[in-house]
Amino acid sequence: MQPDIEQLKTTYKNLSDDKLSSLAINEAASLRPEALEVLQAEIKSRGLDEDIANGISAQLIDTGSLEFDGYVSLIRSQPCPVCAGTLLPLNAAVIGIVKSFILVTQYKKKVMIACPNCLQNANQSATNTTALLGWWGLPWGIIRSAQALTRNVKSARQLRSGEPTDTLISFIKTNIGVIEGVRKNKQSLGFMLDSVNKR
Ligand SMILES: [Zn+2]
Repeated sequence: MQPDIEQLKTTYKNLSDDKLSSLAINEAASLRPEALEVLQAEIKSRGLDEDIANGISAQLIDTGSLEFDGYVSLIRSQPCPVCAGTLLPLNAAVIGIVKSFILVTQYKKKVMIACPNCLQNANQSATNTTALLGWWGLPWGIIRSAQALTRNVKSARQLRSGEPTDTLISFIKTNIGVIEGVRKNKQSLGFMLDSVNKR
């Protein structure tokens, strides 16, 4: 059974400012409308930062809208977190890398945000490592290597088109509350993008 409004009010009241802000910035889009209203009211009554309220509204923006495109342009116009270049719009790709050891095959999929050149370099180097070290494990080495190579070829094709990739759109959609909170601060925005690559 879903908690009723009174229970929600009590739950939100008992959260610390940090927990409440984090819920607002990261999960507002997944709350049902009544819960969202209670959350907004609680934030207002505590006098929390306006950015948090804006972070909630941002999560309710439709990906197809002009407003969402504004966030895409904002992220794409940042300096590359890898080479610091500013000439090419940033993009994102999922890069697959497989390494097999005697008994174990390790498959890592990693989201990376950078300029197209840095993304292509990372993609190529993951592909080389996979080709060299991925195949040894049986049977997973072969299966996972084939998956990783297919993924990397697809990423390379998307990147060449110059359009924002699905990976970039879904990264922005998931993190839009956080992006809204740091959009006016270039340094924080850069730090956020850089931390994605280090995950
Ligand atoms: Zn770069």
